[in-house]
Amino acid sequence: MSVNVALNSQLRPRVGHDKFSKPRLLVLATALVSLCGGTIAYATPTALVAARVIDGRSSTLSRATVVVVEGKKIIAMGDRSIIPANADVIELGDATLMPGMINVHEHPLMSSSDYQNAHLATSSAYKALTALAGLQKLLLAGWTGVRVMGDADVGYANQDLRRVIDAGLFLGPRMSGAAHYLSITGGGGDVNYLSPEQTVRPDGLIADGPEEIRKAIRNEIKYGSDWTKLLVTGAFESVGDDPRNVAFSPEELKAAVEESARHRVPVAAHAHATEGIRQAVRAGVRSIEHGTYVDDETLHEMARRGTFLVPTVYLGDYYDQGDQLRAQDKNDEYIKNGRADFLATILRAHQYGVKLAIGLDLGVGIADPSVYANEFVVFVEAGIPPMAAIQAGTRVAAELLRWDDRLGTLEIGKLADIIAVPGNPLVDITALRQVSMVMLDGHVVKRPGVSQPIAGILLAANAP
Ligand SMILES: [Zn+2]
Repeated sequence: MSVNVALNSQLRPRVGHDKFSKPRLLVLATALVSLCGGTIAYATPTALVAARVIDGRSSTLSRATVVVVEGKKIIAMGDRSIIPANADVIELGDATLMPGMINVHEHPLMSSSDYQNAHLATSSAYKALTALAGLQKLLLAGWTGVRVMGDADVGYANQDLRRVIDAGLFLGPRMSGAAHYLSITGGGGDVNYLSPEQTVRPDGLIADGPEEIRKAIRNEIKYGSDWTKLLVTGAFESVGDDPRNVAFSPEELKAAVEESARHRVPVAAHAHATEGIRQAVRAGVRSIEHGTYVDDETLHEMARRGTFLVPTVYLGDYYDQGDQLRAQDKNDEYIKNGRADFLATILRAHQYGVKLAIGLDLGVGIADPSVYANEFVVFVEAGIPPMAAIQAGTRVAAELLRWDDRLGTLEIGKLADIIAVPGNPLVDITALRQVSMVMLDGHVVKRPGVSQPIAGILLAANAP
């Protein structure tokens, strides 16, 4: 049996997810559920009305200008004639509706660009609290999903963040990912600038040889990771290693992919050097992170195998702003001699049919969420059509995360993670920096012209 409950759409309770409801409404909903033993059918759908719609799937604008949401899901798309008489209508004017953006490479606990050092300065609990505030700001900037790719934390605060968000205790984007990156001794996840007499715990999980790798992966999964993250080559932002060197051996890569696969956990491989990328692709990783020096032969192999590429290309630009990094010289060299080639590589990857996804490789504790949309801007600078760039941060990103059965596109039956941006982002991609409306799981969490905090949601006091 279902019950019709007329509630303001912003306060509508979700069965099993009450973070949006006032306690009184929660009691009402709980009582109704327990009285009737069934699900609640909501009487008030929400109709989002805009000038245009990007559905994340088609290569042109959708013919729809209205998206109707009931409960958590999209139930109709079309013109104004489909708006139900009882709908809460949100008029967005000259705006474009599109799927919520998904950042597939995030480090929420990083609080400083000097990440190999910064993880030593604050506790795991402090990092969790500051990252929660940052993730909420990221959500309000239009990012409804993130994949964590290791973090500046010896603990598992990022997994606890995911737990409290999933439990509905706090508002935040959907989360997935790896608590830590696995690194060889002396690799990008190790601390390589202290004297041999000093012992500190690096933020990476140091694992050498197939057996240590298996054990590290089992620990990661034990404490919540649903991805394995490997630092397969050296990195740009770390001291003491070289992005052109391969860290893990083919035997170690094979063990990592095998062990992860037995737990149905996919592997993401940080890799810059061609040889490392090739070995990781052949070992069966699901995504290559960065891919700076990938050659055409390997790109073709990635296209054939369906390996995703997450180029995180804006990252280098972000750090081209003065002396921010302990290893600033490596980034400076890349900007001078590598950036133009990398943009050309990304365009060729797109042309060869490699699945490109949007990832920032920043952290909400480092960068303002408004700069996150710059990854789309740089994709377009590389020559990728704006629609393909948008799909890289919506549909393709959802596919990478295996969320594509329910997220990543605006289609009837999909979960309603929807944003609105001013104007037409196909004409001006920078519109993605100014998200005006955010709906998460069918709930409007940001609405144009409404500044009051939404009841039942804990937001940082200075959240936009
Ligand atoms: Zn990263």
